[in-house]
Amino acid sequence: MSQPLLDIQNLSVRFRVYGGYLRVLDGVNFQVAPQERVGLVGETGCGKTTTMKTIMRILPQPPGVIKGGKIIFKGKDVLGMESWEVERMRRREVAMIFQDPTAALNPVFTIGEQLFDAIRYATGKEESDHRFLREVAIRALEEVALPDPARILTNYPIQLSGGMRQRVCIALALACPKELLIADEPGTSLDVTIQDQILRLINRLAEERKMAVILISHSLGVIRDWTERVWVMYAGTVVEEARTQELFAQPLHPYTQALLKCVPKLTGEGIAEGIPGRIPDYFDPPSGCRFHPRCPYRMAICSQEKPRLYGTPTHHVACFLYQEERK
Ligand code: SF4
Repeated sequence: MSQPLLDIQNLSVRFRVYGGYLRVLDGVNFQVAPQERVGLVGETGCGKTTTMKTIMRILPQPPGVIKGGKIIFKGKDVLGMESWEVERMRRREVAMIFQDPTAALNPVFTIGEQLFDAIRYATGKEESDHRFLREVAIRALEEVALPDPARILTNYPIQLSGGMRQRVCIALALACPKELLIADEPGTSLDVTIQDQILRLINRLAEERKMAVILISHSLGVIRDWTERVWVMYAGTVVEEARTQELFAQPLHPYTQALLKCVPKLTGEGIAEGIPGRIPDYFDPPSGCRFHPRCPYRMAICSQEKPRLYGTPTHHVACFLYQEERK
């Protein structure tokens, strides 16, 4: 990759709890190229959302503590930015949409009031620029294919369906141009047909605006269909990264292989396999490779040392099984 748009280097985050720290991110490395569509997968609690919140500087601190690492966005270290620089980044460069559109919208303000606020925040316009704010708001609602935008401006969130609320959230995030959209399970709380519409909408906007997208999803089918590159996380670490087609055709890490076997099949080939064991305790995570207590291929070295990423230019895997042939 030439100059990445986003480059996360060795990011480590802990959560302070009674009696100590939860080691939730342990040296995460992650890159996104300009205009690239990247997928991020892994079990619930593996650190996907924590990583994204750290990029946006919305991780609550406390309990969050950033122990080390860098987040370089367009050549600038996000963790070292002044608060006004973070605000500018959120206003003009990076947007995030969340899983639950109901929780993301304020129930006591109309959609119009919330959109006007977002546009004022992004553009620096005054409340008195009502005509401008209304024009941009209506255009934003039209762009996300909501019918009768003038009426929707007067609605409260509760008056809209789940799919319409998620479209409003996308309009709020993208009312003004951005270079990176972080979509954190944007369709998970919606039924599959609406989920598909939302993903098509994100795809269209990303293409039209030449925007990079990080898509977090539990649906491996969605990731396979909508992304160019995939990062697999397990227990706060990146364990595999590859071009999407390559990863699905030949998953290398034992965790990725097990994850793909968990996908239910509709062809009567039996019940999908689960992954034996449990997600590790972040208070006292396994030494070495964090997957070793659940790995059928573990060796002595696996509990002693943390594997680095071995690989080819298009496929990297953090596993000692590939240490010799791939270094
Ligand atoms: Fe399994 Fe060892 Fe590879 Fe970890 S490093 S996935 S324990 S073989």
